[in-house]
Parts: sequence; C-alpha cells; structure tokens
Amino acid sequence: MITEVQDYTKPKAQVAETKQAIIPKSYMISGLRMRWVHFRLKLTLLKVAMVCYRNPLDWLRSLRYLVVLRKRFLGNYRLRKMACFNGEYFMGLYTPGWNNDIYKRFIASQLHDFKPIEKGLVNRFNTVFLSVTKKCALQCEHCYEWEHLNKKDTLSDTELIDIIKKLQGQGVSQIQLSGGEPLLQMETLIKLLHRADTKSTNFWVVTSGFKLTLENAKRLKKAGLKGVIVSLDHHEEEKHNRFRHFKDAYYWVEQALTNSQNAGLVTALSLCATKTFISEANLMSYMELAKILGVSFVQLLEPKAVGHYAQKEVSLDEAHIAILEDFFLKMNFGPNYKDMPILSYHGYYQRRQGCFSAGLKGMYIDSDGDMNACPFCHKKTGKVLDVNYENHLEVLKAEGCPTYPST
Ligand code: SF4
Repeated sequence: MITEVQDYTKPKAQVAETKQAIIPKSYMISGLRMRWVHFRLKLTLLKVAMVCYRNPLDWLRSLRYLVVLRKRFLGNYRLRKMACFNGEYFMGLYTPGWNNDIYKRFIASQLHDFKPIEKGLVNRFNTVFLSVTKKCALQCEHCYEWEHLNKKDTLSDTELIDIIKKLQGQGVSQIQLSGGEPLLQMETLIKLLHRADTKSTNFWVVTSGFKLTLENAKRLKKAGLKGVIVSLDHHEEEKHNRFRHFKDAYYWVEQALTNSQNAGLVTALSLCATKTFISEANLMSYMELAKILGVSFVQLLEPKAVGHYAQKEVSLDEAHIAILEDFFLKMNFGPNYKDMPILSYHGYYQRRQGCFSAGLKGMYIDSDGDMNACPFCHKKTGKVLDVNYENHLEVLKAEGCPTYPST
C-alpha cells in the first residue's frame, strides 16, 4: 500500500500545467434556454405518464403528484438552472440526465408511488452505493469505513458482478461504486462496467481522486462510466491535505477532475461540511473553486459520528445547519448564482421529506456484501447475495433510517 502511495506522489513540475489544463466541458444553463429545455422535459413527463396509465385523468394527477413531490423536497422554489453535459440536462446529482431511457424509467419509478404501474417499467431502486474494496491510501478524518480500512477484501469480482446483476434485475437508476478507494481496484472496476448494463443504469465512481489518471479516466469512460464524485473537504490545499492525512490529496483532486472531464465524464465534488469549516465565506470560496474546476455538482455531506468520527462530537448544531440550508437555497434558487454548480444537500431533503434510503429506494452494500441503510448508517441486515435477500430487504425497510423517519 505504502509503495503504491509513493509511486503516485505528485510530480512537482506538473502542478502549473495541471491548473492550466483544466477545460470545463460542463456548463450551466438558465433563463430562456433553460425554460425551453424545461418545457421539453415536461413533455417527456407527460409522455411517460401516458405510457404508464390509460386514464387521461391519471396523466394529469400523476404530473401534479410529481410537482407536489418536488415541493415537498425543495419547497416552493422555481427552477433556476440546469447542468448541461454532452447533450444531457441535469437537475440534480441523484436524478438521471434528461433525456434518455434511464431518465424516463426513473420518472416512471416515481410515478409508481402515485399509482402502481406495470413492474417492467419500474426500477426498484433510485441509488445504490456499492463498496468494491476496503483498500485505501488515505486516512481521512471523517472516514466512514475506518474500522474496515485496508483489511483483506472478501468479495470476489464474480460476487461483485453477481451483486450488480441482481440489482439491475430489479432495476436501479444509479449505482455509485465506492470503497475504500475504488481506483485501487481499477481492473475490477473495468470488469464490473463491462459486465453491467450501462444503458439502463448510470454508474458513478466515488473517489478521493487518487490514481484517477487520464488513462484510467479514459478506460472507465470507454467501459461505460457516467461520472465521478471526487471528495474535496476544503478549498485551501493545505487544509484539505491535512483533513485527508495525505500530502498530495488536493493535487489528486485537481488531476481527477481534469482527467475525468477530458475523458468525457460528468464530474461532481463532495464536501464533508464540518463545524470548523462552516461559514458563509468558506462555502462561497468553495463554490467559486468548484466553478473554476468545472464540476456540474457539489454535494454537501453532514459529518456523522461513525467510522473515524465514532464517539466524537461532530454532529452539527442548529446554527450550522441554518447556514448550510440558507446557502443551499441561495446557491440553487437565488438570482445571482446561475453559473455556479448545482448543490445537492441530503440533510435538507431528509429533514423535510424523510429518508429515501434504508431499503426504500436505496441502500448501501458494504465491502462484505452486506446491506446497510446508507454509507453512514452501519447496521448490517444480511447479505445481498443470500437466497432470502428479500427478507433482509424487508428488515432493512422495517428498521428504517435511525436519524430521519423513512418516507
Ligand atoms: S474516506 Fe474514503 S478516501 Fe478517505 S480514508 Fe476513507 S475510504 Fe479512504
């Protein structure tokens, strides 16, 4: 492991070139152009409703249901911007881009909750997180996999392929391949993508950026990967490196984003917003950097007392949450930030709408193949490859999310 870290140490001479080489291929749309795209998107919603239901009244009621659902998640705010990447238009990190079959099936799956529709049109899950390895070169302060880190991997490639096959058999819009550091198992990632149906599910890799070279990014894209979510926990290089206990962590974030964008992958940043980080000024500096780095999305995560943070006083208090929520609303729906990446903030939705994970529309499959509510709620309820998987899933749903009531 240590040898691998040294092999990938930042070559100092390349830093300046790296910064110049960033060519954002993603851009935000707003105003008239966005409204035109949004109008066409609404026609797609109507077409999906018409395929799902025979009764025209159901077409209207189901569209109304989608509007109400959005309001329950986000409040009564008008859409201000969308992220465009390679001809796809995204409203959020966890919603497939309009307009392709994955998007249509995702919509049909939400309509299924309004009024059941034919099973073949519906995905069982929106998003499943699948850990493909325990290996990692970093030692992040908030690591949720801390107690398993760098232990022996137990799942074979064949078992991982079977897990994905099982999930896709039930239908899943998005699978996020995580770890550990998934890039340390590059050959496994390629094998999984080659064996998966990447036309019916969007596959993302969640990474620290370590080892996401241009060659690896191109190979992943060719194998069918949709995008990468790269963790960056501070806009200041030195503070991010300290948080990750790895002197070249920031360098690898820049490398990963540049290489991924040059390979044609959608890119997002993920920030663990700690008490010491949270301030309007820090959040704004972070977003300005995210814009320069050319990402389509920024994901805000709240620290949880699990893994490396277990037994620690890391939970945010009301004042911190208020700053994050105000910032989230301002950035996504305010008039002055239309060219900034779209913010995704689970805590905001969960406090209003409850949790959609815990077996309901998502779950976390850990590196032993066990099902958990989400990457931050570790309580194994059984192996996904067990014959009585459906029973385990029912247990997962019954136990629900320990923080937010399941919807
Ligand atoms: S949080 Fe991710 S990158 Fe950091 S130590 Fe844990 S597995 Fe590695």
